[in-house]
Amino acid sequence: MVEETDWRLMGQESYLMAREFRWSPWVEYRPGWDHDHCEFCTGEFGPIVSEHVEFAVGYVTADDNYRWVCPQCFQDFREAFRWTVSAESGEGVPTARQIEAAFTSLIAGESSREDVDRWASRWVASPAVSSMPPDIWWALSDVLCGIDLRHGPDQPYLFDESQILDWFAEFQRRIASE
Ligand SMILES: [Zn+2]
Repeated sequence: MVEETDWRLMGQESYLMAREFRWSPWVEYRPGWDHDHCEFCTGEFGPIVSEHVEFAVGYVTADDNYRWVCPQCFQDFREAFRWTVSAESGEGVPTARQIEAAFTSLIAGESSREDVDRWASRWVASPAVSSMPPDIWWALSDVLCGIDLRHGPDQPYLFDESQILDWFAEFQRRIASE
């Protein structure tokens, strides 16, 4: 039972009430994003547990992959917040929204091409490939993975910005027609 005065409660009910969560290894919300915090105890999530990273796996909001809750807090608040856990478990697949975030941060210059390539490559090499929707697979393997290729050392990028904008438009068309 959780006390109403629990120190971890800070108005989360306004955005976390009755949400669906998925158990997942921590994944960056968009390329270059390097950590998150538990929405309750503020414990740090990251790719591997280290001196300051407490959690490498936990619960993430299933529809947007954005809010993380650590196992202990999930246990403690699950009932009060009426959370559900998605049947789709384990290895996540990037959502269309995450792919869009990758494109927009690349286009805005918030993520480097190298960051985006690294992010996409990791997914392309993961076991999640078998359950990846075709449009997500296309964006990751045909576009984002290799986005940092150059004609040669110190040469310009193979793909210019207008090409990236075209691909982004194509991706949005594909997911809109689903
Ligand atoms: Zn926590």
